[in-house]
Amino acid sequence: MLSAKRNSVAKRYSILRLVALLAAGVLCAGCQGAHREAREGRAGPQPASGRGPNLVICVIDAARADHVGCCGYPRETTPNIARLAEEGLVFRNHHCQYPATRMSTACLFTSQFVDTHLMGGMWKQAEPSFTMPVGLKAAGFQTALFSSNILASPEVGVGCAFDEAYYGDELAPGGSSIHRRPEALLGKFEEWLAERSGSRFFAYLHFLPPHAPYVQPDEMTELFAGDTPPGYRREKYGHGKWEFPAQYYVPKRDPPALPGWINLYDANLRWGDWAVGEVERLLRGAGVFENTLFIVTADHGEAFGEHGYVWHSWGIYDDVTRIPLVMRLPGGSGEPRSFDALTQTIDLLPTVYDLFGISYPADEIQGRSLLPLLEGLTEQINDYTFIRSNQPPKYMVRGERYSLVLFENPEWRGLYDLRNDPEQRVNILAEEPERAAELFAAFETYARAQRQPPHEFLGEGVETRPRAEREKIELTPQLERELRALGYLD
Ligand SMILES: [Zn+2]
Repeated sequence: MLSAKRNSVAKRYSILRLVALLAAGVLCAGCQGAHREAREGRAGPQPASGRGPNLVICVIDAARADHVGCCGYPRETTPNIARLAEEGLVFRNHHCQYPATRMSTACLFTSQFVDTHLMGGMWKQAEPSFTMPVGLKAAGFQTALFSSNILASPEVGVGCAFDEAYYGDELAPGGSSIHRRPEALLGKFEEWLAERSGSRFFAYLHFLPPHAPYVQPDEMTELFAGDTPPGYRREKYGHGKWEFPAQYYVPKRDPPALPGWINLYDANLRWGDWAVGEVERLLRGAGVFENTLFIVTADHGEAFGEHGYVWHSWGIYDDVTRIPLVMRLPGGSGEPRSFDALTQTIDLLPTVYDLFGISYPADEIQGRSLLPLLEGLTEQINDYTFIRSNQPPKYMVRGERYSLVLFENPEWRGLYDLRNDPEQRVNILAEEPERAAELFAAFETYARAQRQPPHEFLGEGVETRPRAEREKIELTPQLERELRALGYLD
């Protein structure tokens, strides 16, 4: 007991010391002044500061947490992420706010729910004035976005505030599929990194694997081919599909047959993990890895037919919402630490800013800093997280113990006890209506606070705030080609 307590105190001291070190590198008077000026609208171009740690965020597209080793998957899909986790912080109950690339990436950059940032459809919505790169730029960071998925790029209105953005033909010209491979992104990042000597930087790297199509190197395909995926049970997939057909959007492209689909996905995830390992190698080669806050996460998961949904974008259960989050603090944390507290994509922005000691406009963001969790001051940050998807509109109110899935049609709604039913298969709404009412009350509070509250779930008399300017997205040849390759057009 005594040693456990001493251990806990040591961990807390370790985090506090690291936070203090991070802040010491950032909280120079010039940076604070620059940020204050940025918030007051007076900031001009700021000189890049060589002091303090860098920030690198790697996103592996469509990685579901329960297929990642440090989140409990027994297969060796993610050895590089596992190694980072050995020296880092693992968040085991982390969720996106929308299970599709564009909306979710917008949540990460804005720290706003989808019903507030309003990114979606064929409209290019103006980003809020404050996004992830904005305050970092004002504090002296050079910022760049690299994306193998055009749906996470300024082409569709996401990440417009970065100093530089590389995606599509910028990664590998010629319209071939090469630019979607991690090697193209890594090559551009390596070039960019070579020019950053002495400058602080924030690099956002969005890798396509494990998003379909699964075209990883053969040796990775062969890793799991022919095996039975861990925990595979045929009855787990396709559950519920024919009970309420109207609640399902049926995608035009068929997925591969099970269980081979899961083997292909796992092989492709291994490729995404390889890319993360290469980023680490490049940073180490440049001598900056130990001075970098290194974050690995995903934009959403992937459904293999659980609850009747396949792919992502349309589902609403944990298979598409629960994603990995691993953070390695500069210099490493000394020992692995994992957290079971409920965390979400929009929490990243305030957490990063708090770790760096940079202020942010708290009234413009909706996420919560995870710093009190890291410091051991609390064991819980969020009572619930709220996730939306469309076709038709639906929400999940996700608590630590229970989840409530909401459709406009009350007959399709479901309440699940995650402790006894982690796969969310047994609807207990009829048995526990008071519990469902409790979660719905939390949803109402959330929904009424959004810029465009979902009236169809709330009824009349709810205030809607005006939306920012938006313009129709132009379907350029490049965008059309990319959407077709990713399976979003016929
Ligand atoms: Zn995605």
